[in-house]
Amino acid sequence: MPYYSFSKLETFENCPLRYKFNYLDKIKRDEESIEAFLGLCFHETMERLYQELKFRIISLEELIDYYNDLWNKNYHENIFIVKKERCKDDYQKLGEKCIVNYYHRYYPFNQGRTLAIEKRVEIDLDGSKTYLLQGFIDRIDRLDDGTYEIHDYKTSSYLPEQKEKNEDKQLALYQLGLKNLWNDVEKVNLVWHYVVFDQEIVSTRSTDELENLKSETISLIKKIENTEEFLPKESNLCAWCSYMDLCPLKKHQQKVEELSLDKFLKDEGVQLVNTYVKLDMKKAEYKKRQKEIEEELEKLKKIIIEYAKQEGLEVIIGSDYQLKISEKKKISLPTKNSDSWKELENILKEINKLEEVSTLDTIVLVKKIAEREWEEDILEKIKEFYQVEIKKYVKLLKLK
Ligand code: SF4
Repeated sequence: MPYYSFSKLETFENCPLRYKFNYLDKIKRDEESIEAFLGLCFHETMERLYQELKFRIISLEELIDYYNDLWNKNYHENIFIVKKERCKDDYQKLGEKCIVNYYHRYYPFNQGRTLAIEKRVEIDLDGSKTYLLQGFIDRIDRLDDGTYEIHDYKTSSYLPEQKEKNEDKQLALYQLGLKNLWNDVEKVNLVWHYVVFDQEIVSTRSTDELENLKSETISLIKKIENTEEFLPKESNLCAWCSYMDLCPLKKHQQKVEELSLDKFLKDEGVQLVNTYVKLDMKKAEYKKRQKEIEEELEKLKKIIIEYAKQEGLEVIIGSDYQLKISEKKKISLPTKNSDSWKELENILKEINKLEEVSTLDTIVLVKKIAEREWEEDILEKIKEFYQVEIKKYVKLLKLK
């Protein structure tokens, strides 16, 4: 049984197709987002700070130098920046700011005793090693009162609310793994450092919440293992996906984005879409015009009917066509299943006429009334339930 990791599970939830490209097809990509690179440099700097803490407290200047050395040595050409208004230096400076924030907030870094840095934990979700998870905890601390703390550094430019972190799965899963490391793990604090905002968020999990998380995670793993069709799931995370050139939702966009205007307009896909849009707009215009014409016709029909009435005509002659004016009764019944409808149904039952209109079939009943198929006294009994409207019709006929 392969090990799952939190990021593997999260990738599947965010986009099954990206999961397939990465973990099943194992398609390797050199690209790395600048946000991921910044996170890596910050994490390594923190590792250095806490490793040295056994011997000395590194000065802020030395720590920033360490960070900048890491940044400059490891920066590579395949790092991409999604936010076009930003440049490499903006992110490097943001990292420095995060270090300054963290340093000032926690100096002299004695809030707890650091037990481990970048510690691997293993989580056996069902106790039979069928569903195994592994993760790396940024830092594990133990407080004087015996509370353990799982620390996680976040360099993201998004600050979540407390509620969101109370439902966060990653550190809660690590808490399950922490219990395997030492026997005295009882109370555990989950601590996130949102260093861009100089903000710390702390949360805890009850035994029930951890048990629920275990079964939810097992269900998710089963779902992944039973998935046959890994579909793309579009979201704002696509901007950071390095498989856009393979993704059916994004590969055309990625291809044409790089073209000059001339080549863009000559692209077969672009031309097909543009032609479709033109036709679709014509169709919308046509529908609008059709509606206007129908309204005009309706107005004209009323004028013609009025003219025919005044002149006592049933046929009006034109150059090539003639218009025939006729009329039909339109009978309206109460709405089906309304109180009046039920009352009408009862009356028809009482006078043994319901069967003829088969459980009050509107079409049959309208025919009975319109063509006066029933005796007048019966029609009289039900007359309050229907309305007769005379509808006039105009029919265009080709002149012979
Ligand atoms: S571009 Fe978006 S939809 Fe396509 S694979 Fe990547 S994350 Fe999924």
